[in-house]
Amino acid sequence: MIVMKFGGTSVGDAAAIRRTAEIVRGRLPRGPVVVVSALAGTTNALLAAAEQGAAGNLVAAIATVEQLRERHLTAVAELIGVGPDAEDLAATESVLLDELAHLVEALSVLGHRTPRAMDAVASLGEQLAAPIVVAALRRAGIDAVLVDARRVLVTNDEFGRAEPQPEQIAAACREHLLPLVGAGKVPVLGGYMGATPQGVTTTLGRGGSDYSASLFGAALEAEAIEIWTDVDGMLTADPRVVTGAKLIEHIRFDEAAELASFGAKVLHPNTIAPAVTRGIPVFIFNSLRPDAKGTRITADAPRHSVRAIAGKGNTVIVKVRSARMLGTPGALKQIFEVFARHRTSVDVVTTSEVSVSLTVDDDQFLDAVIADLRAFGDVSVERGRGIIAVVGSGLAEHTEAMAKAIAAVGDTRLYMLSLDSTGINLTMVMDADAVKPVMQRLHDAFFSDPAA
Ligand code: ADP
Ligand code: ASP
Ligand code: MG
Repeated sequence: MIVMKFGGTSVGDAAAIRRTAEIVRGRLPRGPVVVVSALAGTTNALLAAAEQGAAGNLVAAIATVEQLRERHLTAVAELIGVGPDAEDLAATESVLLDELAHLVEALSVLGHRTPRAMDAVASLGEQLAAPIVVAALRRAGIDAVLVDARRVLVTNDEFGRAEPQPEQIAAACREHLLPLVGAGKVPVLGGYMGATPQGVTTTLGRGGSDYSASLFGAALEAEAIEIWTDVDGMLTADPRVVTGAKLIEHIRFDEAAELASFGAKVLHPNTIAPAVTRGIPVFIFNSLRPDAKGTRITADAPRHSVRAIAGKGNTVIVKVRSARMLGTPGALKQIFEVFARHRTSVDVVTTSEVSVSLTVDDDQFLDAVIADLRAFGDVSVERGRGIIAVVGSGLAEHTEAMAKAIAAVGDTRLYMLSLDSTGINLTMVMDADAVKPVMQRLHDAFFSDPAA
């Protein structure tokens, strides 16, 4: 059995969905379970409609809903044509879009958004996409069956980034997915969404369909987890940021996880952990070039001094200074407890005898964090920073590589610098607008083709 996840561009329109059906057909002997994202751009449009509704701009919100209706019904017509099947599918889509219209109206009455309502809205992209993909697969002669992801992907009720419950997911997958695969059918589920044990809809956080796929893969002890996307695999850097990014054919779990956490959007940061628990290889393939090599991610790929570079902006630095208490035992623990209490995860940490600097991506609860941190000393916040991660499992041992990385940074101002305990990730915090040029310089230093 394998799990195949198709991202937004792989199901973006009728032509992409047809290509996806052919890719699934090629894997039928391996017992695929298919996970799909929303049609590209849909989740952004859904969240925009919800924001417009909550801001009292109902006319704009409904216009967004109608654009989504048009887009999904066009895909249905192009894939299924006319007739009873097309009518049934169009009716299914319309019911979901009517539900969306009611939700944005409700938000406009409330005048503010609630996390639970936002998840109900955000999950509609995957709820709309999955039945279309099922119908297209059936049209292509594949015995596909729609499974509501909320019956299997059990989470807690942290709306917006719900925590999956692996044991309950494993039991539900055994109950609802295994018999289908055993009977030669292809289950199709929406990614990104789940539900609490009480059945309330949740989401795993943006980009979470990759995570859904690896959770299902681990629950089913699949042979492989395949992530089908719009690039040839994991590259040496984001091709939208640097020129000359190259395919990585084989990379280690730990390296891929670090890259995903520091901006390599091709994988949701949580995708690797469930695969590691069961030693399941993760592959990344391009749905536009299904015969290309792709990337294989396993525990045992050869070590490299530098394997790839990732970067991200929107980083906030929080600094706590106190000559009095930071040297005392337990001080760091208490500081981290503040972040944990406010559900804010920390990316990079550096310390000195009298100060500690931490970075966060998500400033949703930052005001509360800062208020609590003031108990420890002076607190300052710096916005507009970015992070670059230079990742390679042999980085710490290769002093030349380390020197080259530092040299490539040149005279760019660094606010924080850290090497993780396993020595595979050199992380540098700089101004957000320095991230792109420094990434290019680092990439040129490590990956430029000597023949070019
Ligand atoms: P999907 O909708 O299929 O999930 P995403 O947009 O989430 O696709 O992820 C694919 C994108 O990730 C690529 O188009 C690319 O711009 C970006 N990306 C960032 N870093 C990397 C990297 N190191 N290798 C490949 N792609 C990357
Ligand atoms: N559709 C969701 C998003 O855009 C989940 C995903 O694509 O992985 O965030
Ligand atoms: Mg993605």
